[in-house]
Amino acid sequence: MADSIFTMIINGDIPAEKIYEDDHCIAINDINPQAPVHVLVIPKKVIEKLSDAQGDDQALLGHLMLAAGNVARQLGVAEAFRLIINNGEGAGMTVHHLHLHIIAGGTLSEGKM
Ligand code: 5GP
Repeated sequence: MADSIFTMIINGDIPAEKIYEDDHCIAINDINPQAPVHVLVIPKKVIEKLSDAQGDDQALLGHLMLAAGNVARQLGVAEAFRLIINNGEGAGMTVHHLHLHIIAGGTLSEGKM
């Protein structure tokens, strides 16, 4: 299977505004932000979608949640943000490489984005 756009970003083959990186994931600003803060947390391991994750991905999934909280703190939005995972094209997934959307700012308190 061809590399996803996120794998190319992780490998440094195409540029992105990287705001966080550790051994297991990166966080980048979304290229088409839907809110004042719109960050993607992406595992370096390719898991196509959340429902493809297996038991041995448990630690990685927990790591992604912790990373999201750390990034939210780093960005000063730890008290009010939404975490979204689109699972499958029917749910609006366009990049087939698991990622968490951190959404914050704007009219977040008024309802769904
Ligand atoms: P999905 O709809 O799959 O959950 O979300 C994919 C997200 O990736 C979209 O919000 C889209 O704007 C973002 N995206 C797609 N291509 C790129 C890219 O090349 N760079 C960055 N930074 N974000 C991208």
